[in-house]
Amino acid sequence: HKYVYDFAEGNRDLKDLLGGKGANLAEMTNLGLPVPPGFTITTEACRAYLATGREPDGLADQIAAHLAALEQAMGKRLGDPADPLLVSVRSGAKFSMPGMMETVLNVGLNDRSVAGLAQQADGNQRFAWDSYRRLIQMFGKTVCEVPGEEFEHALDEAKRAKGTTNDLDLDADDLRGLVDAYKKVFRKHTGRDFPQEPREQLDLAVRAVFDSWHAERAVLYRRQERIPADLGTAVNVCAMVFGNLGSDSGTGVAFTRDPASGAQGIYGDYLANAQGEDVVAGIRNTVPLQELERIDKRSYDELLDIMARLERHYLDLCDIEFTIERGKLWMLQTRVGKRTAAAAFVIAGQLVDEGLIDLDEAVHRVTGAQLAQLMFPRFQLDHDIQPVAKGIGASPGAAFGKVVFTSARAVELAGEGEKVILVRRETNPDDLHGMIAAQGILTSRGGKTSHAAVVARGMGKTCVSGADEIEVNVPAKRFTVAGRTVVEGDVVSIDGTTGKVYLGEVPVTPSEVVQYFEGTLDPEATDDALVHAVHRIMTHADQRRRLAVRTNADTGADAARARRFGAQGIGLCRTEHMFLGDRRELVERLILARTDQERENALAALLPLQRADFVDIFREMDGLPVTVRLIDPPLHEFLPPLEQLAVNVAVAQERGEDVAQEEALLAAVRRMHEENPMLGLRGVRLGLVIPGLFAMQVRAITEAAVECARAGVAARPEIMVPLVGAVQELETVRAEAEKIIAEVVGDAGVEVLIGTMIEVPRAALTAGQIAEAAQFFSFGTNDLTQMGWGFSRDDVEGAFFWRYLELGIFGISPFESIDRDGVGRLVRIAAEEGRAARPDLKLGVCGEHGGDPESVHFFHDVGLDYVSCSPFRVPVARLEAARAAI
Ligand code: ADP
Ligand code: MG
Ligand code: MG
Repeated sequence: HKYVYDFAEGNRDLKDLLGGKGANLAEMTNLGLPVPPGFTITTEACRAYLATGREPDGLADQIAAHLAALEQAMGKRLGDPADPLLVSVRSGAKFSMPGMMETVLNVGLNDRSVAGLAQQADGNQRFAWDSYRRLIQMFGKTVCEVPGEEFEHALDEAKRAKGTTNDLDLDADDLRGLVDAYKKVFRKHTGRDFPQEPREQLDLAVRAVFDSWHAERAVLYRRQERIPADLGTAVNVCAMVFGNLGSDSGTGVAFTRDPASGAQGIYGDYLANAQGEDVVAGIRNTVPLQELERIDKRSYDELLDIMARLERHYLDLCDIEFTIERGKLWMLQTRVGKRTAAAAFVIAGQLVDEGLIDLDEAVHRVTGAQLAQLMFPRFQLDHDIQPVAKGIGASPGAAFGKVVFTSARAVELAGEGEKVILVRRETNPDDLHGMIAAQGILTSRGGKTSHAAVVARGMGKTCVSGADEIEVNVPAKRFTVAGRTVVEGDVVSIDGTTGKVYLGEVPVTPSEVVQYFEGTLDPEATDDALVHAVHRIMTHADQRRRLAVRTNADTGADAARARRFGAQGIGLCRTEHMFLGDRRELVERLILARTDQERENALAALLPLQRADFVDIFREMDGLPVTVRLIDPPLHEFLPPLEQLAVNVAVAQERGEDVAQEEALLAAVRRMHEENPMLGLRGVRLGLVIPGLFAMQVRAITEAAVECARAGVAARPEIMVPLVGAVQELETVRAEAEKIIAEVVGDAGVEVLIGTMIEVPRAALTAGQIAEAAQFFSFGTNDLTQMGWGFSRDDVEGAFFWRYLELGIFGISPFESIDRDGVGRLVRIAAEEGRAARPDLKLGVCGEHGGDPESVHFFHDVGLDYVSCSPFRVPVARLEAARAAI
């Protein structure tokens, strides 16, 4: 079985097997770009190792064979004392996980080969010892779990002894001393000496990369990014090239376009006389890539040339890592680069203009999640708060919150419902929890490609990096800026677009994209590149999607906004709120009614109020369907809470007041108390038990529609009966409703549909029968999930979902994204059997899932007619429906 591929054997389509890094290294190799030779150990080998706890048979031999070939190609042997071949051992899964997995550079160095390395580098002792100390440090930390700070301390100590803060001031002797110090640290923590045998170093490093798949922060990142937990990582073994050979060497990262805005140009960071890790870690301040032109014009020109080639080849923004070894350029990595949401739209538009992709492809290059981000508010432009610092706008958005300095504190405060901004000198992978919990991230060091910037962009979190006017003091929990001190808990605002930092809370305003959807920003009349791109892509998406998108709206105002956002009707109009506020008293009268007459009076008083609500909504949705759900929640929800009422009655009695009314209410609340209200008297059950309740609602809806029709408004009501589990329930309601509709409509020419929600599993399983009595189904996937799993939606998330997520029982809450296998199967069965019984049955979904990108794709696949979601999610659903269709 083949577990190892030479770089020349792979290609970019083999990401499953070779990981993203390996597949792209192979692609670049085959494009003839200057990639140091090497080979990739497959994800399959990793999976076999993780499953059994040992390397699969044959792997060791295959590695030996490929290593021999590599040695042959390089004319050096791994760790040869006279002229050592050194390699990097690099993780690389199918999906890029920045900083998540571990890489070890300079493998093959030991006490003897360090001398040979120096000799080969024209006697450059400093370089050799620097490389060696890096190996012990990286190997110790990542392979043997030696705490990284111990090495940092030793390094700081060496610099202090030298009276400097700059690594470059350490000479060969200092670094030799540092190697000794590092070895002591290594022995102290591992109980053994640093391994001198090169092949053992290599094998241990490979194994550590495999193991790092299960590292806590890798697990967390995968969960956050919804990356499957069982893919495993590949391992790339790559001949070392050296950026730390002197001032004619260096290392850098670059993007072929600006990953923040999408603008064309040269974007990157360069660091002379350094090895790769230094750039990303933000340890020393880098220079903008443009300066390389001055430093080394030949390499610069070659780099630009390669970048242009890569873009034409990948037809997308690429990011790259490169190293220059004594004036010779080497490519160490490329991939289709991460970008902000805004850049994704702008770049997709540009690539269409450049004729590289078509509009269908452009729709695929952006996501609903990105569009959702662009709809976040941004800071108002006309506030007069002066920024106190300016860093790099590393990941856009506007965020404010209380300052915290540690990941743990961020998690803690966010858990209490506070908005927090995580402030660090620079972030590292251990800060991931805090970054997830925070509204935004502010660092005083590092560029656009620092850890904080890359991870924040990936998460869609606002980030300002490299705000170097800020002096961060983590132990003291404060930072100083412009002569002022900001302590933990103080509020700051950060603008991830401009990089500006403000003290206090800056007011926010709707984004341009929202203004565009609202219709207050004309895409033809603006020069905003983002609005242009969004307009163009959304227009095409609307032409290409099959699923209609409706909205969940209970008021005329919500309906109007959703319509501007592109909603093609209302998929769920809840009538509950129509029973709240001033109307509570009428509901109380209804519930307390002792005679038919009293009840009818209460209903008669509610009727005109409900009718007026519906008129409002029908007007706003003129010509579009409006699905109205008859009252769903248990009635006691409309009454005061039991305890409070009991206290009130007792107090009033004490005072000798007349409490007959309150006592009746209290008795009613007691009578209606349910142990499991969500499984109790609600939905259709309520309609069957309380005479006249549904009838009143049906009448209000129909009368409103007729009133609208008379005024020239095309009302298209669809009456939806909730919580049906058996066709008999629906038939009973339907018989009564049809009579009322026929009577009210008369010759007004209004059509009223009657259908049901499918939200009880039994309804899904008897959908063929139910369809006989229903003109439409709307899947209530919240309840369907609740009852399908037996999860109380209001309780489980806080109680134990964290554990389920931790154990990987599911990767995401089934309330957030539809559970395709279980709840989704119920939907599929109901859709198929419903349609079989009634071919023109209309099918939609009105749970929260209607606005979830993953779920939209599922509903498209199942063949529903529409999804319905909250107004702000409507554009997201439109886009995802097109992405599902193309
Ligand atoms: P990550 O996925 O965290 O970027 P990489 O495997 O790309 O990890 O490696 C970390 C750093 O080491 C990068 O800057 C990379 O360019 C550099 N690097 C990796 N392999 C080599 C090599 N063979 N020679 C020189 N630098 C290397
Ligand atoms: Mg890399
Ligand atoms: Mg429900």
